[in-house]
Amino acid sequence: MTISSFMPPVRTLMGPGPSDVHPRILAALARPTLGHLDPLFVGMMDELKQLLKYAFNTENELTLPISAPGSAGMEACFVNLVEPGDKVVVCVNGVFGKRMCENVTRIGATAVTVDCAWGQPVDLAQVETVLEQHRDAKILAFVHAETSTGALSDAQALCALAKKYECLTIVDAVTSLGGVELRVDDWGIDAIYSGSQKCLSCTPGLSPVSFSDAAVAAIKARKHPVQSWFLDMNLILGYWGEGGKRAYHHTAPVNALYGLHESLVMLQEEGLENAWQRHAAMHASLAAGLEALGVHFVVDAGSRLPQLNSVYIPDGVDDAKVRQYLLAEHNLEIGAGLGDFAGKVWRIGLMGYSARSENITLLLTALAEAMT
Ligand code: PLP
Repeated sequence: MTISSFMPPVRTLMGPGPSDVHPRILAALARPTLGHLDPLFVGMMDELKQLLKYAFNTENELTLPISAPGSAGMEACFVNLVEPGDKVVVCVNGVFGKRMCENVTRIGATAVTVDCAWGQPVDLAQVETVLEQHRDAKILAFVHAETSTGALSDAQALCALAKKYECLTIVDAVTSLGGVELRVDDWGIDAIYSGSQKCLSCTPGLSPVSFSDAAVAAIKARKHPVQSWFLDMNLILGYWGEGGKRAYHHTAPVNALYGLHESLVMLQEEGLENAWQRHAAMHASLAAGLEALGVHFVVDAGSRLPQLNSVYIPDGVDDAKVRQYLLAEHNLEIGAGLGDFAGKVWRIGLMGYSARSENITLLLTALAEAMT
């Protein structure tokens, strides 16, 4: 059998990511491939680092995209900062907090969990109690924007607590970067990772990371080599470092990096704070429409993520049938519930280029149709 080229339809992506990719970014991906050590490409990499510093609100020198998805950014933060025998306090209020624990234990370190209710932000009082009980903890890790539930945690307050107990912080910003306020330097975040496919509206497969000076010092002071060769920041720096002294580490995903560059140029053109405001405004409009349809939110208004709207599936409505209808009749994707929320909620994304009024109108019309 001869297999033909794959020609996907144009869908509207309103799930938990990937989000719609802007045509400008798709066009950037199709530009001529350069060698990954070509001086022109190296110049673009320097710009990319600058743009990422802007997006993260940081002056951290060690700010770059890992050549792999958000999970690899997560792993890069943990394998570089955590050593066997260390104690890490991990806040768990959804699927991705659990994944952080997995990372800690696989390193041979101890994860002390702060278990919080799904659909709620991380509880500061609970975290303080645990930090008080575990004065020897080295790191506090938490998810800023829990994509499995739609809850936003107070990253600034959590980082202040970590500093009080002399812990470094590892922050998951996969869904938050570009969608809600995030200030790496002002909030004192030590290690942070994100993903290209959510509010940056790029294709999946890249993970921007940033490490503070304190985090870099901790990496340099390690007693054991970093367990992962590919994610060892000391080696990655040899390729991404300043001054044109670029040594081969791995073959960078050249065209994917053009895409990320373009998405960050677009973020800079819009302005970071304007992007946060756009997500908030689109969320308000979607929320009003959903409530009018009798569809209710999982998360309280004060801690809702504008870019990830978790709603209860109304009684008597068939989850799979509705999602299948939206896809088949409207080329529209929304997300199913994950983990404890499977079968109970839908996750409606308004991320990056997907956060537009025409998408909201389509979603509300199609959903009303699908539920009748
Ligand atoms: N962390 C959070 C909060 C996420 O939402 C995701 C993906 O949805 C990840 C980590 C993992 O990212 P990726 O799927 O790109 O590996």
